[in-house]
Amino acid sequence: MNTILCFGEALIDFHGQAPADAGAPPVFVPHAGGAPANVAVGVARLGGHAAFIGMLAHDMFGELLLTQLRAAGVDTSHVARTDAAPTALAFVAHAADGERSFSFYRPPAADLLFREVHFDDATFRDATAFHACSNSLTETAIAHVTVQGMRRARAADALVSFDMNLRPALWPRGEDPTPQLWRALAEADLVKLSTEELAFLMAAGGGEEDVFARLWQGPAQFIVVTDGARGLRWYTRGNHGGLPAFSVSAVDTTGAGDAFIAGLLYRLGDAGIGAKDLARLADDDTRRDDMLRFAAACGALAVTRAGSFAAMPTRDAVHAFLQQHA
Ligand code: ADP
Repeated sequence: MNTILCFGEALIDFHGQAPADAGAPPVFVPHAGGAPANVAVGVARLGGHAAFIGMLAHDMFGELLLTQLRAAGVDTSHVARTDAAPTALAFVAHAADGERSFSFYRPPAADLLFREVHFDDATFRDATAFHACSNSLTETAIAHVTVQGMRRARAADALVSFDMNLRPALWPRGEDPTPQLWRALAEADLVKLSTEELAFLMAAGGGEEDVFARLWQGPAQFIVVTDGARGLRWYTRGNHGGLPAFSVSAVDTTGAGDAFIAGLLYRLGDAGIGAKDLARLADDDTRRDDMLRFAAACGALAVTRAGSFAAMPTRDAVHAFLQQHA
């Protein structure tokens, strides 16, 4: 089975809504989310086999996450549970210009308590890809587990994918995330950054070329830098290019990057592209552009819907969208 393993946090995103009456208290609506959990749901909605690996709390929201992952068709057989900490909560408010601000209730949180012993031997056996993000790098122990997961996936010949997905508010105050980010970036075959995240890496010293030179020192074969409605740029070791975004009217930009990477991982898995074949695929103009267009359609559709899990499109929706936008 071509399983896409998605490792890290599942949490509840509370989305702020404008109160019905001026002066009334703000209203926050709970949505199941967490970047790697979103990606697992995204792959499953597209018809792929996705497994979520992480620690869920034995609390109301842990149950909700487990139920919703299963309802979306995600394999939860590698999920561990704990009573030692509650589910992490993220409150997301939208400014008038659509920009998001976050307030996190983590740590303590269940997802930070996943340890290497919770990876069972069978976890990596059927994996074609292992996907992680930076929210599981915010504490030393979970960062170590994330990197170990990436290494175990590589040893099992799975493609290792990393979406930086930086949420500065999740890091201990005063701690520079850069060293931990580079530990994970140095393990990935497929790297997804946003334009802001590329700028963040540049701010630590050096220009764009220096960041790319450092990425190419690792196993990276394909780097995608996304820029919301402005589309994306892609890079291989010998080539680079861009792809515009589809024109849609955005309702909620949460989850666009997760839907995008889910689309890309789904297509790579479906085509049986592992770490060894990624460079060849990325340099094949027709196949690469076709996969990126599919992934961009997933991202575009995600912004037309509110929520995180709920915003991940189905394969039929993506195909219909691509036909409309042919
Ligand atoms: P992230 O959520 O990681 O910051 P982006 O917002 O850059 O990711 O979105 C990833 C991809 O999803 C973009 O490259 C684009 O193809 C698509 N996308 C995101 N926002 C929009 C939008 N407003 N309109 C159309 N497509 C979008």
